[in-house]
Amino acid sequence: MSLLVVGTVAFDAIETPFGKTDKIIGGAATYIGLAASYFTSNLKLVSVIGSDFPQESIDLMEERGIDTEGLQVKQGEKSFFWSGKYHNDMNTRDTLATELNVLEHFDPLLPESYKDSEFVMLGNLTPSVQMRVLEQLTSKPKLVVMDTMNFWMDIALDDLKEVIRKVDVLTINDEEARQLSGEYSLVKAAKIIREMGPEYLVIKKGEHGALLFHKDRTFYSPALPLEEVFDPTGAGDTFAGGFIGFLASTEDLSFDNMKRGIIYGSAMASFCVEKFGTESLIGLSREDINSRVKQFAELVHFPQ
Ligand code: AMP
Repeated sequence: MSLLVVGTVAFDAIETPFGKTDKIIGGAATYIGLAASYFTSNLKLVSVIGSDFPQESIDLMEERGIDTEGLQVKQGEKSFFWSGKYHNDMNTRDTLATELNVLEHFDPLLPESYKDSEFVMLGNLTPSVQMRVLEQLTSKPKLVVMDTMNFWMDIALDDLKEVIRKVDVLTINDEEARQLSGEYSLVKAAKIIREMGPEYLVIKKGEHGALLFHKDRTFYSPALPLEEVFDPTGAGDTFAGGFIGFLASTEDLSFDNMKRGIIYGSAMASFCVEKFGTESLIGLSREDINSRVKQFAELVHFPQ
């Protein structure tokens, strides 16, 4: 099953209570692609980078089976750069810098072989770029999942709402759900946001797990209690990559399978936060992932 991923491929500088990095490889599409690559090998990336981006990092994605034909390289320009600092609880962070650079004039031209993708992951990126990707598809995908963040709610709300209208699943965090809906209650917020278009809404709550809303049904996945959390950057993207990668590999869009997807996404995110940047998303095995999924099942199982 073909999975198209669009999002940022970027440099990040991260500060957590456990340490600080210089520019390291990040970006929404990087985390999504790496996470999804553990589930499907038919993975196509659409993004843009500057000539400052290291070839080894592109090679690494290709080694994981990610098709990078749709990754544009802008000679003489700089890659997207984001910098953030986490508070002591690691569940909240301040964005210190967002430098759009190559993203400012990005036109995502889809290679021919990408246009009939059956699963589409619109990772965090300029809403008008997400829309341009949808416009170029020649057949209706089986599932479109979209992620976004408060940054785009602040500067491009109308464009954002247009894209939201066209997707099946929206994933945002709790604060963003409140901002988008104007409601404090996440149950009320979910209702309002689903009326904007998506049939499914995932509200991510960081170390407190994630909620899936669909019609009058709700599912909750905790986050795995971990001994060590070094860097939550990319956890949301990794979650989304695991979620859609699992769904693309199983081709089953029932609510029960969506629940499984939420658990696989949460399992992938639990690896992500254990190391800085994308480091922990390299070299996992299917057994590692399955054993994490088992831990989730044990965590919430109780005799009735
Ligand atoms: P997450 O922690 O899941 O929200 O994802 C963090 C990743 O998103 C980082 O690697 C950043 O490079 C990327 N990112 C941060 N801000 C933006 C933005 N405004 N648009 C797209 N990607 C972003």
